[in-house]
Amino acid sequence: MESVLKKYFGYSAFREYQKEIIEKILQKRDCLVVMATGSGKSLCYQVPPLAVGKTGIVISPLISLMQDQVMTLKQRGIRAEYLGSSQTNPTVQIKAESGQFDILFMTPEKACLIPSSFWSKLLKVGISLFAVDESHCISEWGHNFRVEYKQLDKLRNILLDVPFVALTATATEKVQIDIISSLKMKDPYITIGSFDRGNLFYGVKPFNRGQLFINELVREVSKFVASTGSTIIYCTTIKDVEQIFKTLQDAGIKVGIYHGQMDNKTREESHRLFIRDELQVMVATIAFGMGIDKPNIRQVIHYGCPKSPESYYQESGRCGRDGIASVCWLYYSRSDFAKADFYCGEFTTPNQRRAVMESLMAAQRYCLTTTCRRKFLLDHFGEKSAADRCGNCDNCTVSKKECDMSREGFLLMACIQSCRSKRGLNMYIDILRGSRSRKILDAQFDKLPLHGLGKDYSSNWWKALASQLISCGYLMETVSDVYVTVSVSSKGEQFLRSARPDYQPPLFLPVTSEMVD
Ligand code: ADP
Ligand code: ZN
Repeated sequence: MESVLKKYFGYSAFREYQKEIIEKILQKRDCLVVMATGSGKSLCYQVPPLAVGKTGIVISPLISLMQDQVMTLKQRGIRAEYLGSSQTNPTVQIKAESGQFDILFMTPEKACLIPSSFWSKLLKVGISLFAVDESHCISEWGHNFRVEYKQLDKLRNILLDVPFVALTATATEKVQIDIISSLKMKDPYITIGSFDRGNLFYGVKPFNRGQLFINELVREVSKFVASTGSTIIYCTTIKDVEQIFKTLQDAGIKVGIYHGQMDNKTREESHRLFIRDELQVMVATIAFGMGIDKPNIRQVIHYGCPKSPESYYQESGRCGRDGIASVCWLYYSRSDFAKADFYCGEFTTPNQRRAVMESLMAAQRYCLTTTCRRKFLLDHFGEKSAADRCGNCDNCTVSKKECDMSREGFLLMACIQSCRSKRGLNMYIDILRGSRSRKILDAQFDKLPLHGLGKDYSSNWWKALASQLISCGYLMETVSDVYVTVSVSSKGEQFLRSARPDYQPPLFLPVTSEMVD
């Protein structure tokens, strides 16, 4: 193992976890590897084929990713190739089935469609491992579910004596369990590395989408790239990408653009220029994703809330891969949280829709939390964080003001309870603000004594208060299909029991910038 590492990769020692994982693969044990981006997962499936001189099969979701990897491996003198719909060279398959490659990449579609004679021929010469990269794509609970991945289980019965190795950089416990059962893994050896990226600063701010904010953002980014280094700006829509791109260009910044509606050639050119430091900023949708192997990105900005904490962790994690201090800023607006329908669009089963909703709600909680952001992310991945405060996120570095919100908290909680039916937050806020909409009149909510008592505050103000009450455990949210309802928790009920319309016990809550104006 060590000599392979030295000979082909030029490294003298394994990193944490690598050696154990490789040993287990050599003993033909199935493995699940969950380790942060940049921690050296690929090496775990690259070494065994070279050590035993038998082909390793690697399933990967994107042709462009496979092409990059094949090129890098070939430069190291490793016999690598890929099979996918865009592979037009017919001799690759023939060479592959006689075991002439050390590492053979395949798309999941190809692996399922290729005739079983291919596998039986290759099995005769021997297969060292069957690796599934980006294996979170198998799970409906993952942030990037792909149907083709789900069908890989068929191969388990064909590749009987071959160790299956599932790798991913992001998997909650639910996703890990799903991966293991989907691939029918037997007693897998599980490695879960730390998700903590200590050199990344995390910060979140609310914003109003539009040109005014973009002008401000462009000023900030210009200063940043001049003094510190390159930046990726992720947007949720192509329209936003184009608007920010144009403003940066007008400001004289060397900026690139990348999204799903550009043709492949222009996209690749844009990618290449950014990697080579000929562009300072890349404005992109999340189509600009896997395979960005640039170590010195210093900042990732999200213009709009991402669809899950997992996607946020992965997208923001593209900066600071070299270990040097880097920053991740997320700008959100309230309307981002109402995008569930948009994200649910391509999903049909109730389970899938619920998974999308729950992810989006978790992302929302990340935006609104007033405690340590790093701890939030680590908790989300089921990792115990060492400290309650990391000292390297906005909530740990800026001291938050707290205010007594007993009257306002009482109004909202009492309103929710007096409706006696589970509704969405907007309904309760409309009642407090004295709305006389059809829905409210039909349900006779205008007759409630609380109707109109909260009209001095805007509905966004009430939403911000509700977020604080949720995050402090007085209210709770429940998802059913694509609807989110809000109800009073037992902690909230306790508060209400000790309160009267003319007296409320103190209720101190952190004040966010949305609650100041
Ligand atoms: P991942 O697949 O987890 O994102 P990679 O396998 O791409 O990570 O590894 C990240 C970087 O670390 C690569 O440049 C790789 O060559 C390097 N690397 C991996 N293992 C070692 C090692 N044992 N010693 C030194 N560098 C390593
Ligand atoms: Zn922190």
